[in-house]
Amino acid sequence: MSKPLQKKIGKGLKVTNEQIIIAGIFVLVLGVFIGAMVAEGGASKKRMHAIESIFSTHTLEIAGEFRCSCGTCGEKNLAICTCETALIEKRYIENSLKTGKSHQQIVEEINKIYGLHNNG
Ligand SMILES: [Zn+2]
Repeated sequence: MSKPLQKKIGKGLKVTNEQIIIAGIFVLVLGVFIGAMVAEGGASKKRMHAIESIFSTHTLEIAGEFRCSCGTCGEKNLAICTCETALIEKRYIENSLKTGKSHQQIVEEINKIYGLHNNG
């Protein structure tokens, strides 16, 4: 049933057929592009929450012993603060844990570099 229909279109509307294919691809690409933009918009809204889930509980446990050293967020708890400085410090803790440093070692290093330990 579809065979004679294809033949008919192919015979008389060859150029239009190609245009339909090009238009189809264009719509597809546009759809993917818009889809990606919408997904990106949603991701940036969720980013604030996603930041915290990046770090392990051990990282947040160590971060919780410090206040943020950025100087602009009012010395928030480092585990809670999501500013750039807090992220850098937490990334440092995370990487240090991965290289096998002990809890105490990391606390001492962070205190030396950034300071603001809760008991210091
Ligand atoms: Zn901060």
